[in-house]
Amino acid sequence: MIKFINVYKAFNDQCIPLKNINLEISKGEVVVVCGPSGAGKSTLLRVINKLEPIDDGEIIVDGMHLSDPKTNLTKLRAEIGVVFQHFNLYPHKTVLKNITLAPRKVRGLSRKQAREKAVQLLERVGLAHKRDAFPIQLSGGEQQRVAIARSLAMEPKIMLFDEPTSALDPELISEVLEVMISLVKEGMTMVIITHELAFAQKVADRLIFMDNGEILEVGKPADILVNPQHARTREFVSKILHVH
Ligand code: ADP
Ligand code: MG
Repeated sequence: MIKFINVYKAFNDQCIPLKNINLEISKGEVVVVCGPSGAGKSTLLRVINKLEPIDDGEIIVDGMHLSDPKTNLTKLRAEIGVVFQHFNLYPHKTVLKNITLAPRKVRGLSRKQAREKAVQLLERVGLAHKRDAFPIQLSGGEQQRVAIARSLAMEPKIMLFDEPTSALDPELISEVLEVMISLVKEGMTMVIITHELAFAQKVADRLIFMDNGEILEVGKPADILVNPQHARTREFVSKILHVH
């Protein structure tokens, strides 16, 4: 579904967030990416929908070669839902409007079709009663669930999450993770940057540990967390788990 072949990206001589990345993610697979700040995790995610161009190598997403100038970026991006740390909802639009906007514009849904779909999705994330609220009237966890519903309204084949719970108060994290777990159960292909290692252990088919633009370890979460091969991974995991 997503294939990285010798992917290289540099911002300048000193900053090379992706150094020869090779990675293949299958349909329905859930991959969690962790690693220290500055490792290149967000860049790894952003090149998948070509929010960032790469300098060398190739990325193939659902058969589309990203280096091919003929690849339709609108089609590519319509297949990929992205959820960021900061929810990026339109502040002056209601919850319902936030969700119906892109399906109407990009997918060509009628107002009625888009509303029906949005209401279904809001029920699914437990926020049907908030459809007429504005983002500022919602908690962070609620805003993030609306952001996920908004992505799902485009019927993506792939969902990317960049630290979706790291801006949330601790007691609001689980409501967002629950929505993500429901997506895992449906078989969505997902790449998730998160430091929620218990969650990773529960849902991830594979865990990737990145540092300094490289994938240092990739494997089953239990193996990597319990028996990391690299000193850097060990150090990182122990810091996250607060055990020394
Ligand atoms: P992470 O998500 O793991 O914290 P990022 O992928 O955001 O890492 O960043 C990797 C490196 O690339 C960092 O050193 C960061 O400062 C740098 N970087 C990210 N985006 C840009 C940019 N647009 N221009 C220049 N440097 C950038
Ligand atoms: Mg990041």
